[in-house]
Amino acid sequence: MKIGALDKFSLIDYSGYTTTIIFTQGCNFRCPFCHNPELVLPEQFEEPIPFKNVFEFLKKRKGLLDAVEFTGGEPTLQIDLLDKMRDIKALGYKIKLDTNGTNPEVVRKAISENLVDYIAMDVKGSIERYDEIAGVPVNKEKIKESINLIKNSAPDYEFRTTLIRGFHDETEMEKIGKLISNAKRYYIQNAHFDKTVKPNFKRHPLTKETLIKFCEIVKKFNVNCEIRG
Ligand code: SF4
Repeated sequence: MKIGALDKFSLIDYSGYTTTIIFTQGCNFRCPFCHNPELVLPEQFEEPIPFKNVFEFLKKRKGLLDAVEFTGGEPTLQIDLLDKMRDIKALGYKIKLDTNGTNPEVVRKAISENLVDYIAMDVKGSIERYDEIAGVPVNKEKIKESINLIKNSAPDYEFRTTLIRGFHDETEMEKIGKLISNAKRYYIQNAHFDKTVKPNFKRHPLTKETLIKFCEIVKKFNVNCEIRG
């Protein structure tokens, strides 16, 4: 597993739990607005942190910390992700997985082996605009498969969208609402552009009123939408 960064203690990423966050290196998307270029662009990768160091830390903190989160980058690209989840589960931690939904096979295995307690999947936009927003050609069938899999079998989950002016409008939100209809939890948030995968990518943030309107649109599809951040 290629670990690009570690946040030993977070109270905000996995609601209700003290969490260690493992940031994996590498992503198969190139969302222009992505604020983690150092985890996405190979030329910006730092020397990876050995998993054994992280595991030793988790062994020592057993009983003091509640959970471990895998985020990235795209964690499901790590070929030993499930092995590492098994090791961490054996210590008694809860596990949260962040994913872009391109690897439903890995997500399915993690769910069926009870390796994951919470899944957060990014829904980039409507199926029609996925390639443009992700910055690469995307297998949309895999995205739909992950959405349905997570809705129907994840122990707990959320979908979420980072909103970008010019990508997301009312029509787009209608389509996203339909795509994730009946979802238990959906968060929308404005992007931050301090550092981005596409250099100097910047858009004006959407107004609070627009975000409220977007949530109302998505709610028509029986989706529990909230604004984050
Ligand atoms: S925002 Fe996009 S490019 Fe960045 S880690 Fe997530 S899926 Fe990858």
